[in-house]
Amino acid sequence: MSKADAKEYMVKKEPYYYPIGDEIDRYEAAYDVRMPIMLKGPTGCGKSRFVEHMAWKLKKPLITVACNEDMTASDLVGRFLLDVNGTKWQDGPLTTAARIGAICYLDEVVEARQDTTVVIHPLTDHRRQLPLEKKGELVDAHPDFQIVISYNPGYQSMMKDLKQSTKQRFGAMSFDYPEAEVESQIVAHESGVDAATAERLVQVAQSSRNLKGHGLDEGMSTRLLIYAAQLITKGIAPVAACQMALVEPITDDPDMRDTLGAAVNTFFA
Ligand code: ADP
Repeated sequence: MSKADAKEYMVKKEPYYYPIGDEIDRYEAAYDVRMPIMLKGPTGCGKSRFVEHMAWKLKKPLITVACNEDMTASDLVGRFLLDVNGTKWQDGPLTTAARIGAICYLDEVVEARQDTTVVIHPLTDHRRQLPLEKKGELVDAHPDFQIVISYNPGYQSMMKDLKQSTKQRFGAMSFDYPEAEVESQIVAHESGVDAATAERLVQVAQSSRNLKGHGLDEGMSTRLLIYAAQLITKGIAPVAACQMALVEPITDDPDMRDTLGAAVNTFFA
């Protein structure tokens, strides 16, 4: 692997991140000792943005993998590919990250099957090694390499939880939706919508978050609020924008749709 590869994964422009507490200092300390980190929290609350910001701040390459249940260990580690000259090994994203010294961010890691998750184990203890069994190579992780996973605890069934043997390899940082004033600022910043509209969108979201566990799996995320705000800046009427970006994505139940629609009307009609 050449230096050029690391360059390809550098975060070039500062990703806007509004700190909620002392998470930047804590992450920097954890990175200093190359502690594997688990970011816990609901979907769309800023975990990925935080990692992007930290990779930029620390000037380290970032390789992100969106995990899913069809993902195999080979998708992470690499595989032999057939070409005209026979077979050729191709590193997977985890291997590339270990070689070039990137921060490897495995997003929604519980979505992956457990036999996939275990390939990260030897990288997360004192060994910092990745065995490429099919290739017969043991990769020593670059000194800058760090592994970060994200995990949404509210969302998991017992079948889909991380094993203790995996969990206990990570330091953890909890994230949640920011308080109303901060979240409004984030929504306004990301979409360009005016402050009053951003505040009302956040109020709609907060009412939906109270329904979590009472007919909703998750409340409206910061990400969805930004979508709604972006539609509004494009001239879509706020009620319609909320319907499209906030209500319809999170429920298929007609009664819940009415309940959330009423919340939207309270703030926007
Ligand atoms: P997650 O990884 O938790 O699912 P993201 O990091 O993708 O969520 O967050 C969704 C969006 O919310 C981001 O693209 C960003 O626009 C916004 N966001 C959330 N929290 C923050 C924050 N603290 N600072 C800046 N933007 C944020």
